[in-house]
Amino acid sequence: MSSESEYPYTGFLDNTNFPPYSHLPMVGELSFDPDNPEEHWCYLGEIVEEPFPMRARTMVQDIEGKKIVLAFYPDNNVPGPDLSKMKVGHTIAIFYPTEHFFLDGTQGIRVEEMKYVKMFPLSIDNMFRASLDILEYNTPEDGKLLCHGCDQRKQGLSKCGKCGFFFYCGRDCQAKGWTDKKHKKFCKTLRDPDFRRMLEWKYVPFESPRFRFSSFSV
Ligand SMILES: [Zn+2]
Ligand SMILES: [Zn+2]
Repeated sequence: MSSESEYPYTGFLDNTNFPPYSHLPMVGELSFDPDNPEEHWCYLGEIVEEPFPMRARTMVQDIEGKKIVLAFYPDNNVPGPDLSKMKVGHTIAIFYPTEHFFLDGTQGIRVEEMKYVKMFPLSIDNMFRASLDILEYNTPEDGKLLCHGCDQRKQGLSKCGKCGFFFYCGRDCQAKGWTDKKHKKFCKTLRDPDFRRMLEWKYVPFESPRFRFSSFSV
């Protein structure tokens, strides 16, 4: 077994898979059939303003700090996102977005297909932190993993029964991880199947069909 198959998490720092807005393609640059993508990519942006109640749009900011307009133009047959669920400080993930110039001169992303959008209840900094922590705590050294409570490398740790991403010596270390290290704040997002599939992207063959989210929020 290769180390990659033992450890299939690439994380959000891979900016080919998770590009900031400045790296998004323009519509005319897409050289492939949209139903048969040659690669997968996903934009991550934190909601930085309350959505305008009368218009299906909000402002999001990526990891580089660039703020853009996010506007929803749902198909007639599909309901748009529930704007009342959108919260400042949560992060929106969008599959296969392109750069867009709106008629009012602003720049951003135009979302037409709601199955490609999902909101996660973490800030963008915490999305990246979760991704880095998952890398760190799931990479064994000499067959030993790090305990997320006491940060010692050991064998035979038990894993968080909810998300499975963090490991503990026992009850005390688990309690320490849950509160002191704030696993409580992250665990719900980490056990979401959509979040897990995003982390495993690098290992998914490009000939696979497009990803889509199973729901708008965790
Ligand atoms: Zn421990
Ligand atoms: Zn957990």
